[in-house]
Amino acid sequence: MNYKRVPVSEVIGIVGEPHVVTSREERYCYGYDASKLKGMPDCVAFPGSTREVSQLLELANRELFAVYPRGAGSGMVGAAVPEDGGLVLVLNRLNRVLEIDPDNMIAVVEPGVVTGAFQKMLAPHGLFYPPDPASLQFSTIGGNIAMCSGGPRAVKYGVTRDYVLGLEVVLPTGRVLHTGTRTMKGVVGYDLTRLLVGSEGTLGVITQAVLRLIPAPESVRTLLASFASLEDSVRSVCDIVRNRVIPCALELMDQATIQVVENHLSLGLPREAEALLLIEVDGPDSILDAEAEKIRSICRQNRVSDIETARSPAERDRLWRARRAVSPALGRIKSGKINEDVTVPRTQIPLLIRGIRELAARYDLLIVCFGHAGDGNIHTNIMVDRKDPDELLRAEKAVRELFRMVLDLGGTLSGEHGVGITKSPFIEWELGREGMETMWAVKKALDPLNILNPGKMFVPNRAFFACEPSIPGTSGTERR
Ligand SMILES: Cc1cc2nc3c(=O)[nH]c(=O)nc-3n(C[C@H](O)[C@H](O)[C@H](O)COP(=O)(O)OP(=O)(O)OC[C@H]3O[C@@H](n4cnc5c(N)ncnc54)[C@H](O)[C@@H]3O)c2cc1C
Repeated sequence: MNYKRVPVSEVIGIVGEPHVVTSREERYCYGYDASKLKGMPDCVAFPGSTREVSQLLELANRELFAVYPRGAGSGMVGAAVPEDGGLVLVLNRLNRVLEIDPDNMIAVVEPGVVTGAFQKMLAPHGLFYPPDPASLQFSTIGGNIAMCSGGPRAVKYGVTRDYVLGLEVVLPTGRVLHTGTRTMKGVVGYDLTRLLVGSEGTLGVITQAVLRLIPAPESVRTLLASFASLEDSVRSVCDIVRNRVIPCALELMDQATIQVVENHLSLGLPREAEALLLIEVDGPDSILDAEAEKIRSICRQNRVSDIETARSPAERDRLWRARRAVSPALGRIKSGKINEDVTVPRTQIPLLIRGIRELAARYDLLIVCFGHAGDGNIHTNIMVDRKDPDELLRAEKAVRELFRMVLDLGGTLSGEHGVGITKSPFIEWELGREGMETMWAVKKALDPLNILNPGKMFVPNRAFFACEPSIPGTSGTERR
């Protein structure tokens, strides 16, 4: 598709001059996300209503320019990154919580609401919206829905899709669609809500969402366990769940992660341990001590070396400190990291991590694994020097092998971060030709001119390296 330049004066006519950005410096700020990929849009607009979003998309279809929806720009895979040209549509002016209904346990929100702020608003009502991406203090509900985000709590509570009952969406052609219900049940017609959740801004612009809420858990217990053997730690994870205790966090740190955090903070973590498990249970206070005891007993049966239980909120914070320190610690080791969020059935975690160690040795790379052991979602961080082309090449080869291995283990290429640009060359490995063609048929039916967020998901030959913009094919201009 040969897109045209955005007619800026017409965009201003729709949203008003104060809500359009045209200077090069400001446009630059909306041309990248946490993947570090970059593009330069013609113009950035901040619509203030569903009607304005609709008019902008009608204009885009008439004038043939691309439109890129954007929340906080915290995505890891370039899903909000524009090609050079086009209109970036920032949804952060649509930031009202329109309704909190404690009796029906739902809320109606606009997409620009920041997830963490929304969760705080629910506390006085005794209500809880569980999805907890680590970015929740800055990412938006719209972005979370578009990426179907999740976090540590997914093992017990599920991910964003499990809490979206209905949506108001502006379709790529500008028509406004309402999907789903305000009720827990509802089976009329195709489940368009689920189709749109996780569609990465390619099928519609979310302008409102009806969210399901649940009662807030009364209390938590937090434990930190260290294991001399990775297999024993994962066996504990499986045994805990099999014994019908479903923790709200079951986080694993491998040996490389322990070293990195210890080098950074000297927390007194056991350097010799092969794995640390951070385990948290929540629910009625009356049952939690028994659940914590069951967990301790299971870990003991699996030869835990040491297990600590937090006795106060301050101790809980201390136990979480190691896990929270992982990302900042990684930032100090090398100038770049490739953070893959592969996911395997939890029983396969030892095979995955041992396979990753083998890749690290063969390609002479530091690869650090940590993440959500309870749901098999292991963040695999390949540490690279961004200025070392040889290391980048070795890392790229390692990523390809990692993806093959994950699929062989019955897993998926992404548990959280999505496809965007960086994973688009690989998803056919997982989805197959039929899967890709079916998805493309849906995309074409809703967006015949490929106006909305083009260049995402369906780009098999694109270079995927998000870490080093100077690699051919990865800079904004070369992507076109
Ligand atoms: C430090 C850090 C930690 C993170 N941790 C996690 C984690 O634990 N779990 C996890 O899942 N992710 C995580 N992420 C990734 C990211 O935060 C999530 O993908 C998040 O949901 C993106 O929200 P956003 O508002 O920043 O959206 P953006 O990055 O702006 O956009 C993401 C996608 O959503 C689309 N989009 C945005 N708003 C709309 C809308 N209103 N309508 C239609 N499409 C829209 C965009 O086009 C794009 O495709 C993390 C990122 C960072 C930087």
